[in-house]
Amino acid sequence: MKKTASSFWSSLWQLFFPPLCYSCGRVLQHYENTLCLQCEISLTESHFAPDKPNPMQQRLAEHVPVEFATALFLFYPQGKIEQLLYQLKYKGQEKLSAYFGCWAARELPPTLFRQCTAVIPMPLHTKRQRKRGYNQVQGFAEKWATDLGIPLRNDVVWRKKNTRQLASGKVKNRWEEVQDAFVLYPITEMSDNHWLLVDDVMTSGASLCACAKTLLQIPRSKISIVTIAYRK
Ligand SMILES: [Zn+2]
Repeated sequence: MKKTASSFWSSLWQLFFPPLCYSCGRVLQHYENTLCLQCEISLTESHFAPDKPNPMQQRLAEHVPVEFATALFLFYPQGKIEQLLYQLKYKGQEKLSAYFGCWAARELPPTLFRQCTAVIPMPLHTKRQRKRGYNQVQGFAEKWATDLGIPLRNDVVWRKKNTRQLASGKVKNRWEEVQDAFVLYPITEMSDNHWLLVDDVMTSGASLCACAKTLLQIPRSKISIVTIAYRK
């Protein structure tokens, strides 16, 4: 009886406040979730092949040894994925993070990362996380941890430096700015791990490389990387 009453109110709520597509704002059909099918189709998946090096992996490998790296989507300026990542980061649409995690679980076979032993969401500086209210990659990272059956670790590395965002002005040398931005937490028993570092978008790769280098200071560590999007 209780259930019937709650589904009645839920149906009534949806009648007056139907769920809308996070991208185009159109009313979602009962078979759609978060994005309408049209918007989903218009997103460009990277289709980086699992059996050969991809451009993202090659760019990262110039700076830091990575076991494997891939991204779910390709990022184009003014494209739909840029708009969605903006919603995720600056408009409180935290739900998109887990939504992309579910998409990645379907498209990127977990076997690619079966050697990984823990998932690390790219840490935000405390001030930025407090202002935003959440880490935008947490939901994406949680989905990876669940699918791979490995722990998600927020207690390994932290961001001590609140680096400027690329969008907020010209950054002369992003690489110099982030090189000492990350520090390991002073805990032991972290050796022999293959970390899966997770971020929202790879642009220059400077932040990812700086964080990966910090993690590689831990004895016998390996790194793989996955992001929601990759900017060519
Ligand atoms: Zn749409």
